Amino acid sequence: MSTSVLYHAFQIEGVKCNSTSFEGRDIVFQAEIAGSYIRCPNCKSDDITFKDHKERRFHLPPMGRKQCFLNLLVHRTLCKTCGGLHWSHLPFMKGKSPLSCSFIRTALDLLSFSTIKSVAEFLKVGWDSIKDLHKDKLKLLYNRIEIKDIEYLSVDEFAIAKGHEYMTVFTDIRSGRIVHAVEGKDSKAIIPFLRRLYKKAVNLRGIAMDMSPAFYSAVKQELPHGI
Ligand SMILES: [Zn+2]
Repeated sequence: MSTSVLYHAFQIEGVKCNSTSFEGRDIVFQAEIAGSYIRCPNCKSDDITFKDHKERRFHLPPMGRKQCFLNLLVHRTLCKTCGGLHWSHLPFMKGKSPLSCSFIRTALDLLSFSTIKSVAEFLKVGWDSIKDLHKDKLKLLYNRIEIKDIEYLSVDEFAIAKGHEYMTVFTDIRSGRIVHAVEGKDSKAIIPFLRRLYKKAVNLRGIAMDMSPAFYSAVKQELPHGI
C-alpha cells in the first residue's frame, strides 16, 4: 500500500516500502530499492557485487500539514561489466541533493505565486535550498540556449495576420523557450534552420510536429539520421 502511495503521490519509482512511521509532525516512509532497480547506473548491468550501504533521507512534498520523508537504504556496487563503482541512483534523485524531484516540483509551483522566504517556511527547509532551486529555474529560463544542448524540439506554425501570413516557430520542449522563428510555413522557410540543427544539434533526440506534409518531408530530408 505505502509503495503505491510513494509511486502515485510522490512519483517515487523503484523502491519497496517496508514501513511507515509517524514521528511528531512528520510522516516517514522506510524503504529499500526494489530488486529489479539494483543495477549499475552507468551501463545498467545487473551483474554487480555489493561493496557498501547507507541510509539516505529525502524530502517529499507535504501531506496536509505533515512533512514527509523517505528513508531509503542505498548501496555502493561494483559493476562486473564496466568496472564502475557507484552509489545507487533512481530517477527521483537529483545528484547528492536530499530533495526529491517531486519536492522540487512542488517548491517551484509554490514559487510561481510566493516568495522564497514563504516557500522555505511552508516547506520547512532552509532559505538557501529554495533560493538555489529558484536560481536553477531562472538559469533554465533565461540563459542563452545552445543548439548543441537541445534534446527535444517542437515545430509549429501560426497565423500572424488575417489571410495567409504565417510564422513557424521552433520551441525547446524542456524550457518552453522559442529558439527560432521564421516567416512562412513551407519547407523553404524551415530548411535553413534544419541545416543548422543537422550541423550543431548533436544531442537532438526528437522533433514534435503536426502532420504538415511540408514539415515532415523537410525534417526527413534534412535530418536523415532517424530523428
Ligand atoms: Zn556498469
